[in-house]
Amino acid sequence: MMDEVIKDFDREKKEMKLIDENGKRIDGRSAEELRPVKMKVGVLNRADGSAYIEWGKNKVVAAVYGPREAQPRHIQNPLKGIVQARYNMVSFSVTDRKRPGPDRRSIEISKIISEALEAAVITESFPRTTIDVSMEVLQADAGTRCAGLTAASLALADAGVPMKDLVVACAAGKVDGQVVLDLLKEEDNYGQADLPVAIMPKSEEVVLLQMDGHLTQEEFDRALSMAIEGCKKLYEMQKEALKMSVGGE
Ligand code: ADP
Repeated sequence: MMDEVIKDFDREKKEMKLIDENGKRIDGRSAEELRPVKMKVGVLNRADGSAYIEWGKNKVVAAVYGPREAQPRHIQNPLKGIVQARYNMVSFSVTDRKRPGPDRRSIEISKIISEALEAAVITESFPRTTIDVSMEVLQADAGTRCAGLTAASLALADAGVPMKDLVVACAAGKVDGQVVLDLLKEEDNYGQADLPVAIMPKSEEVVLLQMDGHLTQEEFDRALSMAIEGCKKLYEMQKEALKMSVGGE
């Protein structure tokens, strides 16, 4: 609650200039440019599947366990498997030490990521099971739910879990009155809106869409299509990362 109050207060201040006269953002990017992204699949030996992503200053590791029998039994679905994702920020991931353990924000993010992944996984193939997906944010700089979800779907593919398609996520938003792709921390804090989007790129089905702040209908349409274009670029990187893991190291 307090975090949200502070964030809204920051938005009102709008003191920081985020786009210069040449249209460049504080890290030198243009409006439609992603931060540098690196992905690696199969980084952990003990999990059934895993992936690591560096996205700008974000660093997230994802691990998958299962499908395995869901426990306790009353959570089992006799017709399909369930996906239980857990998003966690480690205490050293942000500037001020984060209090360990779940909070309202991480519970919300875990829920929406579970739903986004469940849309892709062919859960009917393994009734009564659970697939547990754990995301640890080691370093955060805005966009961690997108980074976590993108890494989580790679970890599921690494675990050999059957899916309709990979899930890939990217945000767009509004900064200094302009619609831009992939907000970093200062842009998220002092900008006017943030719109994280996740899709299954083959069908372009949207599996996650949230909005923080205000956009006109026109800005929303532009931000959504910009985020989808960002997702498509990340999808190519995901496929490359999976090929590298099959190549073996
Ligand atoms: P996302 O990381 O998906 O963009 P938010 O918009 O909620 O999610 O958060 C934006 C950024 O704010 C995070 O990436 C992180 O850098 C910072 N942040 C979030 N929660 C905390 C917290 N409890 N303490 C400090 N910084 C935080």
